[in-house]
Amino acid sequence: MIQLSEVITQLKSRNAKRVAVQLPEGLKRKAAEISATLKNEGFEVLISGDACWGACDLSLDALEWADVLVHVGHTPVTTEKNVIYLPFQQDIPLEILESAVPQLRQYTSVGITTTIQHAHQTKAICKWLKDHGVNAVIGTGSSRTPLEGQVLGCTYASAKNAKAEAYLFIGTGVFHAIGVSLATKKPTFALDPFADGILQEVSADRLLRKRFAQIEKAKSAKTFGILLSSKSGQGRRELAERLAGLHENAVIILIREISEMQLRNLGFDAYVNTACPRLALDDQSRFPMPVLSPSEFEIVLGKRSWDEYAIDEILP
Ligand code: SF4
Repeated sequence: MIQLSEVITQLKSRNAKRVAVQLPEGLKRKAAEISATLKNEGFEVLISGDACWGACDLSLDALEWADVLVHVGHTPVTTEKNVIYLPFQQDIPLEILESAVPQLRQYTSVGITTTIQHAHQTKAICKWLKDHGVNAVIGTGSSRTPLEGQVLGCTYASAKNAKAEAYLFIGTGVFHAIGVSLATKKPTFALDPFADGILQEVSADRLLRKRFAQIEKAKSAKTFGILLSSKSGQGRRELAERLAGLHENAVIILIREISEMQLRNLGFDAYVNTACPRLALDDQSRFPMPVLSPSEFEIVLGKRSWDEYAIDEILP
């Protein structure tokens, strides 16, 4: 549900006249409705039509035209003036947790994690599970994940802070659950509230086998492109510079959208990704050459052992 009333109050208190609106891909179709509501309130409106996957990619070019940018769907990952964040909340019925209770009761504590859409419910989820005999706990987040229990594909701080014996991820798909499992190295379960509601224990083994294959392939690479994102909340310049210093034929590439065609055109044998960590883990199949995470690059160069494999996170 998108509630614009609070945003309108904030816009008026800032004396905003021109408002730019940025929506993530899943909510782009709300653009006409949001624009009509804001125009009715007397604002001039500009919609950002570019792809957007997170608050790490603020439409700062749209903000050049506007007094305020309203970024819908996410909580902030960076501090920017003149941006109002409007997270998207989606309630889940707590009864879907019933199937998870027998398995979760086996653990002395279970850390609850979820994505932004459901993070407003973590306390209620915790209480419901406790009432049903599961010692559910929630960890505090980080500057990129301000809500308790909230995780992103680039930050699992709230899972680690929960210090639980096992974890439950509630949300769509298993990518975040695998991330929790890699970040905590603890048994992790996933419950998709919009699929069949069946609890599944996730395993990172398949992903790790694929990453191992890419690491082996990259060992024969002669040239490495170190990808440095120009997006507002993805650029890790210090990391990119450190990685570029590890190999004589490594060079930093400043890039915004990372596509197969661009990487082919640039012509490096392998790439090291310091942009969104999901790129190397989730999108490798799009690329014909290895796209490594920072720790994987260190393994390729013999500066880290496979046993020290660590999931890439953007730390505050
Ligand atoms: Fe999401 Fe990636 Fe941006 Fe993190 S860096 S907020 S995982 S799109």
